[in-house]
Amino acid sequence: MTARLLIVGPQGSGKGTQGVRIAEAYGIPTVSTGDIFRANIKNETELGKKVKAITDAGDLVPDEVTSEIVRDRLDEPDATEGFLLDGYPRNAVQVGHLDEFLAGREEALEAVILLDVPREESIARITQRAAEQGRSDDTEEAIAKRLEIYERETAPIVDTYAERGIVDRINGVGTLDEITARIFAALDARGFTR
Ligand code: AMP
Repeated sequence: MTARLLIVGPQGSGKGTQGVRIAEAYGIPTVSTGDIFRANIKNETELGKKVKAITDAGDLVPDEVTSEIVRDRLDEPDATEGFLLDGYPRNAVQVGHLDEFLAGREEALEAVILLDVPREESIARITQRAAEQGRSDDTEEAIAKRLEIYERETAPIVDTYAERGIVDRINGVGTLDEITARIFAALDARGFTR
């Protein structure tokens, strides 16, 4: 059984944490573009040098650069039966890139988990993370920019996937375990096996 999944939600929705749990339960790798960029910045690779200023400002890395990284990652053997995308696609152009790439493998996304969290709650959670982790893109300006891009460019892609009937809207307010249970229930209902 395959599991080709996407988790989407505003910054501070708990995507990263829930993503780890989903990937473990369904035996699939998480593919997080944010994590890939952060690792490259930390290791001062060519890619890292190219994207540091962009990510620090809360802007999006160019679509073609990002899509190529994802294609390369999905071509690795552990992603043939499934994967959990986190942070990609983030706009309509990237949706097109991903569709085209997956169609070339006679595949498609099978489910999209939308973590629904009110704006005030997600801002409170990012602010708390900023204090705890000191991520270099957790400045007030960059946070505002990322939320604005989410609302303008990322939220609409959910409608595209909803038209395909693959979106599960999950209430993202509650304890970590409650939210995980809601996600598992939705994926179980679609016939994915843990
Ligand atoms: P995240 O951890 O998903 O919030 O990503 C951190 C930063 O990496 C974002 O603010 C962007 O600068 C960059 N990034 C991550 N994913 C993408 C994407 N799909 N397209 C463009 N830029 C991205």
